[in-house]
Amino acid sequence: MIGLFSEPERLACSRAGCSETAVWRIEWRNPKIHSADRVKVWLACEDHREYLENFLASRDFPVTVLALTPEDAP
Ligand SMILES: [Zn+2]
Repeated sequence: MIGLFSEPERLACSRAGCSETAVWRIEWRNPKIHSADRVKVWLACEDHREYLENFLASRDFPVTVLALTPEDAP
């Protein structure tokens, strides 16, 4: 039913202090503390995808970046 709650959930960037709408989904894992089936997800706006990806890659964490679609809402 369309009504008060029809507004789509807004997905915000995971970068601290950023409230931009995320357009990227970054899946990552810390192999030292996470088992292989445990995947963490960060969301990133256009400006912060590279920052967040580099942050994880510099720690040798496995990183997968995917285009964010509304169906991915947590
Ligand atoms: Zn951002």
